[in-house]
Amino acid sequence: MPKIDSKVDSISKELYTSSLLLDSMQEITGLELSPKKVEYLKFLLKKGDLVKTTDISSELKVDPSTSTKTINDLSDSGYVNHVPYRGVRLTEKGRAFAEFFVNRHNILSLMLSHYGLSSEEACAEVSRFESFVSKSAIDKVCGAMGHPTVSVCGRIKHGSCNSL
Ligand SMILES: [Zn+2]
Ligand SMILES: [Zn+2]
Repeated sequence: MPKIDSKVDSISKELYTSSLLLDSMQEITGLELSPKKVEYLKFLLKKGDLVKTTDISSELKVDPSTSTKTINDLSDSGYVNHVPYRGVRLTEKGRAFAEFFVNRHNILSLMLSHYGLSSEEACAEVSRFESFVSKSAIDKVCGAMGHPTVSVCGRIKHGSCNSL
């Protein structure tokens, strides 16, 4: 029964892949990536699909050789797929991380806007330190603020923060 065997094999492979993905999402600490790499992932999420490497280097103001190296790093650790001559796109893992990074920015901006900063000031301040704030801290802040859905910088989504 080779047919059934290969079917079972492909299903178990799929289950294995999705459990890996789930693991990677549950294990986001928020501190995995450098501020620069966080910018790459957020930019790719904003652009949606395949993004040309030249667009990335001009948007993030780095020279092409630097962005190629960073993209290769991100690809080696499973955050992006690099399609030669076409561009770069987020993997599912990369998308999960990028969505968290946007959420983190939005939650922190909203928090600072509650303490005397204008929207623009809050956004600029947060952009300087957001990559150093852990996901567990963000989840707690989100809970303490009552899980707001809109920030001065955009929408806020809720996932693991809801259990706190
Ligand atoms: Zn902002
Ligand atoms: Zn929340």
